[in-house]
This record gives sequence, C-alpha cells and structure tokens, in this order.
Amino acid sequence: MPGQPKRLAHTSSYLSRPDCAGTFWEAYESGPHSSRANTCNARMPMKRPLLESSVEELKAWMTNRGHPGYHARQVFRWIFRHRAERFEAMSDLPKELRQQLDDEWTVFGTAVAHHNVGCDGTDKLLLECGDGRRVECVLMAEEDRRTVCISTQVGCGMGCVFCASGLKGVERNLTRGEIAEQVVRLRNLLPAGERVTHLVVMGMGESLANLDNLMGALDLICAPDGLGLGQRRVTISTVGLPEKIARLAAYDRQYHLAVSLHAPTEALRNELVPINEKVGLNAVIEAADAYFQRSGRQVTFEYVLLRGINDRPEDATALARLLAARKAHVNVIPYNPVAGLPYQRPTPEAIRRFVEAVRSLGVSISVRKTKGREIDAACGQLRRRFEGRPREAVPDPTI
Ligand code: SF4
Repeated sequence: MPGQPKRLAHTSSYLSRPDCAGTFWEAYESGPHSSRANTCNARMPMKRPLLESSVEELKAWMTNRGHPGYHARQVFRWIFRHRAERFEAMSDLPKELRQQLDDEWTVFGTAVAHHNVGCDGTDKLLLECGDGRRVECVLMAEEDRRTVCISTQVGCGMGCVFCASGLKGVERNLTRGEIAEQVVRLRNLLPAGERVTHLVVMGMGESLANLDNLMGALDLICAPDGLGLGQRRVTISTVGLPEKIARLAAYDRQYHLAVSLHAPTEALRNELVPINEKVGLNAVIEAADAYFQRSGRQVTFEYVLLRGINDRPEDATALARLLAARKAHVNVIPYNPVAGLPYQRPTPEAIRRFVEAVRSLGVSISVRKTKGREIDAACGQLRRRFEGRPREAVPDPTI
C-alpha cells in the first residue's frame, strides 16, 4: 500500500514462536494526571510467593512444622478477603506461625516499581518480578464496573507492528502467581467494600502462549475462596492461535474469547500481525467459530483502528463480509500512538464512518471507550518509559 508505514524490524523471532501473540488494552481522554508511588513490598526473591502455591501445599508445610493445617485456609482468606499484604497483619494466626511464614514465604513475589493514576481514576501498575523483569497491569473504574487488565508474558513475541509490548520480543512467560498477583494488587487499590467486577487478559504478551499458567491463575481468582469472580466476567484476548483456542475451549470454562483481528484480509493482516503469515486468517476464524460452537459464547473481534491503514471504506466492507454470517461482535479500538512508531489514531469522523459502514452491513460493532491515555495505558508504554530506572523507594503498605 503506497504511503503506508513499512513493517518495523522486531528483535523477536516471532515466526519461531508459534505460541506467542496477544492484544493490548486501552486508554482514555485528556486531562491532568498524577503519578504517585504506592504499595511496595520489599522484594524477597529467596522466599516463596504464596500465590505460587495452593492451600494444600501450605497445609502440608504447616503440619510439618506442628501447626494445624486449617491455618492455611486462613492465610489465603487474609489475602483474598482482607487484603493482607504481610503475615504480621494476620492477627488470628499464632505469632510463632506468622514469624515462620515470614521467614520462608512472601505474600507477593512482585513489587510495585511504579504506580500511575490518570485523571479519570485509571490506575496503572508497573510490577517488578523477582528476577527484575517488569510487567504492566491496569485498573479501570466506570460506573459500577471495576475492570482489571492483566499481562501474561514479559514482552511479547508476536511483533504486531503498532504495539510497544512487542518491540523487544518476548522474554518469558509469567508464572501463575505473577498473573494472579496483578489482580490481587489492583483489587487492593479499590476502596474497602468495592470488588473487581471484570477481568480482561489483554495486557502484555500473548495470553494463549502461556495458557496453563493463565488457567491456573484464573482458577485461583475465580474460586469462591479466591476473589470469587464469575467466569463469564473474564475475557481472554488472543491474536488467534488455533490450536491454543481449541485447548482453551477444552477447559470448558465460561470465559469470553476476544480475537485480535486488526485486519480483514490476509495481505493486510500479514502486514500488521506478522504471526498471521504462519497461521492464516481462515484458520483463525475457524478456530473462533469452533470456540463459539463449544462454549455458546459470542466471540468478540478486536480491531485496532490505524489511520489510513485499516480504516478505509474497503476495509470496512471486507470486515463486514468476513463476519456478517457469524454471531460475532467487533470491538473497535482507536489507536493510541506509541513514541517511535509511525502509526496514527484516526480522526473521530473517520472512526464514526468506519463503524457506520460496518454496522450498515449487518455486523454488531462498538467503539471501546479509551481510558488512561495520558498515563501510557497502551500496552508496554509504561514499561518502556521506566526501562533501566530503579523502583521508587516508598514505604511498605499497611493493610
Ligand atoms: S505484539 Fe502487542 S498487540 Fe501484538 S500480540 Fe503482542 S501484546 Fe498484543
């Protein structure tokens, strides 16, 4: 396409990583924002993070030390229900046990490297893992919704040309505990009495490239003695890895699937989402259809709208043609520009035209409201901005 930015070179060799992909999250309008330090537990890599274990494992650890096993459930209850971030705060546990726990375990394995707050109240955390690697997660509040957006990998191997997360490729998968901690840490930012109502797996990394750890974390979060979040309120976003979508369907959960389409034709998708060269658009659509048939849940197709690239009338027509016969919904995400990348957000008029063109051809479509735009809310931007900078020195939280 003449005048279109060329695909940028990525350090990742995404073609040799068929199990990597992803999407990104969202941002919001203008206005002042604050940047404040917040909760920051001392990082203790030698200690075992609790959310990497289970109640049963903790119970065994306790009984080996002569304590009744039922204290294990109490510990998890303190974390999930009472927002405890230190063993010292778990006041109904014997003092000796709290000390032993503190000697060998840590409530969180990550530390808060930075906390940004947007003028609309959107919180974005940059979390530092035990090995010093960093990931982002976001809490968005809207009317009675409290949505968290979490990451599944450090970096991303998909190399989508418009995305900050993929610029340096993928470094590693996050563990089950590192994924679950993002939700718990964000929940702990909410005022007392408020709870997370929705969870979207649309942060850094390809969700399905780390499927087992993701499912372990979601099981923990959705369990009645975890955060008790309903499975139907969880959305897993993927760039579209057919085999992994089939595996996800086989888990027989009620999670909502969002496929990051971004282009309605093979040629354009090959340009914007390079993994498509290996997978193919048809295979992605077929996998989404199969997920719908098995789960009964309508699939959402995410479409990042890039000025002059995939927002043209012919793109709208091709998109509608691709999806018209399906029970599908298109979620348009006007692009959040990323420093150093040549892509632009379409004008409001161009966005409106695109949406109306698709809708007029019988496809359900909406535009995602952008939140936290002024706080680097597009995936990978905060991490990039703080690269090489130390964590903020802030006091430990109290519960
Ligand atoms: S490169 Fe970015 S947009 Fe593409 S799959 Fe990865 S995280 Fe998502």
